[in-house]
Amino acid sequence: MRRPLVNLASALLMAPFLVAPSAPAVALTSDQQQEAINFTAANAAFFAYHEAAHALIATLNLPVIGREEDAADMLAASIMIPAEGGDDTRDQKIMDAIDGFALVDGLAGESPGEEDYMDEHGLDAQRYYQLACLLYGSDPDGFAEYAEAIGLTEDRLSSCPDEYKRATQSWQRLLAPYQPKGGASNAFNLAWDPQVRGQRWTQAVKQARALDQVVADLNSRVFLPKPITMTVTACGDEVNAWWDPESQSITICAELIELFGNAVEEDILAQGDDANDSRDDTSGSTGKMGSKGGAAPSGGTGKKIGGKSASDPDGVTFTVEKK
Ligand SMILES: [Zn+2]
Repeated sequence: MRRPLVNLASALLMAPFLVAPSAPAVALTSDQQQEAINFTAANAAFFAYHEAAHALIATLNLPVIGREEDAADMLAASIMIPAEGGDDTRDQKIMDAIDGFALVDGLAGESPGEEDYMDEHGLDAQRYYQLACLLYGSDPDGFAEYAEAIGLTEDRLSSCPDEYKRATQSWQRLLAPYQPKGGASNAFNLAWDPQVRGQRWTQAVKQARALDQVVADLNSRVFLPKPITMTVTACGDEVNAWWDPESQSITICAELIELFGNAVEEDILAQGDDANDSRDDTSGSTGKMGSKGGAAPSGGTGKKIGGKSASDPDGVTFTVEKK
């Protein structure tokens, strides 16, 4: 069974983002455009890794202790989080992916309802903080400022290094027997449905080769007896991504990529409007942060998302679904 990514009310709420055929009246500068593309690409990469984790768990019959959704997030994070002293450009990618949970959570304008609490996924806010904790835990000195801006408490931070270590080592250990010998495998393939040609953010992600990088990363880590194809396609009304065990394939809807692109574009434009305002203002902004270059975010989102999840009823739980 595959559940929809968003409930009906949320889908309607998001409809303006989904059907927006072109850029808004106020255009992004070229730097902002690049920022938005990078952000969208990082989020597309995150849910591609997430779905790949479901595929690996199913096809390799890997043991999962705890929620599979959390395990899938941890694989995505452990691949995207750069090794200490590694490639700095990867810092921004994982921060953008983490911010994606705040961004889409902010689109809902409402808090979780009963259905969200019983969902197999953690709440967006929980996934946001959990991923931020893992990032901090990968390099506590390097991400101290980031963690502070996010609003993670000292109490929470104290366990993050161990959690990061446990998450990465667990996945490494599970995948160790399937390491490809003699170079990369062809465990995962990427396919683009020609019908996605019209979607501008999806097209930009394609040109940035963000998902090619995901496939290359995965293929450097794992060998599978039967290759799995990851297809980016137009899904119509569906805003989703999923692993389908019957067809042994991963589908990523262009609509999901468009959702992120349109939302971050709106957010960047709103930030421009609010340039002189306090970032504590929770109106308008969807809570993106950390995508302005550099490791330290401007802050504010942590407070916003924390307050929201604590008090409001019902809303979009942005969750990458699986069948
Ligand atoms: Zn999932």
